[in-house]
Amino acid sequence: MPDLEAIAAFARAHSLVSMIDNTFASPVNFRPPERGFDLSLHSATKYLNGHDDIVAGVVLGATAWIDRIRKRLTHLGGALDPHAAFLLHRRLKTLGVRVRHQNASALHIARFLEQHPAVSRVHYPGLESHRHHARARGLFHGCSGTLSFELPGDDAAAARFMARLRLPVPAPSLGGVESLVMIPALISHVGLTAAERAEMGIGDGLVRLSIGLETTEDLLEDLDQALRGQEGSN
Ligand SMILES: *Cc1c(COP(=O)(O)O)cnc(C)c1O
Repeated sequence: MPDLEAIAAFARAHSLVSMIDNTFASPVNFRPPERGFDLSLHSATKYLNGHDDIVAGVVLGATAWIDRIRKRLTHLGGALDPHAAFLLHRRLKTLGVRVRHQNASALHIARFLEQHPAVSRVHYPGLESHRHHARARGLFHGCSGTLSFELPGDDAAAARFMARLRLPVPAPSLGGVESLVMIPALISHVGLTAAERAEMGIGDGLVRLSIGLETTEDLLEDLDQALRGQEGSN
């Protein structure tokens, strides 16, 4: 997790435009203008809409910047269709409650996974054990509903774990009402070699979870039964 305030300050000192992709945090957890960023981008497909049924994007910033961006966008033809705009507008009204629930549920699940004997490592900045936990506490109101963890073994073992899950849906998106699960080595980063993935810290047994709005206890129970099956299958 980079030192975001130092990046914004560096850009300002060198008269550069600073821009941040705030998709994973959402404005509930992180507000870039308050930390010195000129522009923030969102895939509104994720937390902002939160229901996995539209594809949309947002750019936020000072009017002078947005006016220039809007002109270019109009020329390029990027316009959201009215129904998608209607859905996104409605869903923004529940953004706060959705993300705060997802923050709390993900933290609970990260803690559960961290102490589980079938899990070798959990990546979630809300955990005290995360190397940038102190920085995350200073920057974010919450650490979002997305986390990842490592299972011992290869990508086939991770795929067997995923197949045993009953609640999270296998899909590469995030931030919606339904929990989603994805194995980066088999989906998002399948185009890289194992060595290239390893250099980025993406092991074959890495599993990404996007926590939705299900009852946390139901997700814990499901993860636990899938992990117990893992012990038998390895
Ligand atoms: C999904 C995603 C995108 C791409 O957005 P789409 O709405 O799927 O086109 C860009 N940045 C981040 C961080 C994302 O998670």
